[in-house]
Amino acid sequence: MTPVKRSVWIKDQARALGFLDCRIAKADFLEEEAPLFEKWLNKGFQGQMAWLEDHFDLRMDPRKLVPGARSVISLIYNYFPEEQPLQESAPKIARYALGRDYHKVLRKKMKQLMRSLNEKWGEVGGRAFVDSGPVHERAWARRSGLGWVGKNSLLLNKQYGSYFFLCELILDVEIAADEPVTDHCGTCTRCIDACPTDAIVADQVIDSQKCISYLTIELKEAIPDEFSSQLNGWAFGCDICQEVCPWNRFSSPHTEPDFHPRPEIGSLDQKQWLEITEDLFGSYFGNTPLKRAGFDRFKANIQRAVDSEKFQKDN
Ligand code: SF4
Ligand code: SF4
Repeated sequence: MTPVKRSVWIKDQARALGFLDCRIAKADFLEEEAPLFEKWLNKGFQGQMAWLEDHFDLRMDPRKLVPGARSVISLIYNYFPEEQPLQESAPKIARYALGRDYHKVLRKKMKQLMRSLNEKWGEVGGRAFVDSGPVHERAWARRSGLGWVGKNSLLLNKQYGSYFFLCELILDVEIAADEPVTDHCGTCTRCIDACPTDAIVADQVIDSQKCISYLTIELKEAIPDEFSSQLNGWAFGCDICQEVCPWNRFSSPHTEPDFHPRPEIGSLDQKQWLEITEDLFGSYFGNTPLKRAGFDRFKANIQRAVDSEKFQKDN
């Protein structure tokens, strides 16, 4: 099979598995991104996410991560829900986090893709990554033409917006590479203006230590008081810089049954959220990304989220 035919074939397979899109880049050193990422780390913008400091060389060069790597295939998978599943008084939870843990759902699909291509192309060396391993996902998706990096630092796609997961296959076979696309943020600054904690410190640069997603998920200690009033009701993650992005007007709902939340959580009012027990947390969210926070942390986040909304109403 020629590199061009491989590209066509793998894109067909990816679509059949439910991916929105799939594009290819040549495995190479990330020359443009490496100094920017190093600068970001040196400023301490990763906060307590120390794993981002590990394996810099591997992260910047997939040929060091996967021996003989020649192609990086980036794929996107929609998680945009049809409707807001929670009551208005409920604490806010990032849209990606209410369904079944995406790592499990997508790992299964990636394994299937690897199996099919091994059957079709013969023994292929490579690895699949779903938000795992030292892979600079956004850089590969941009290089492959899946979109551009928005000022909010997320990958944006003209057709699909930004509510999607990214995953990668790094393979030791040559596949015809796609071309990057141009940046379509233009003069827009909506995400920067809307961010309640001023976490977008420059175009495409997030100071994670100020970002609500980091504060509610990654930070090991309690959320510092200086941010308490700025959480805008978010208890796990934050979608504000996606909600305001004009490119998300084109997001259409996902069709993945595994991403539907448990219907019971749609009926919980604020009081019930505040009083949620460990058993209910396990039963509603044991299978979702929320379990990462753990019960005690999540419960404390709910209280802070509710307090932050109250603070905003009173001021
Ligand atoms: S996720 Fe929220 S806090 Fe983080 S940069 Fe976006 S708007 Fe700001
Ligand atoms: S809100 Fe505007 S500036 Fe921010 S990512 Fe979207 S298009 Fe770009």
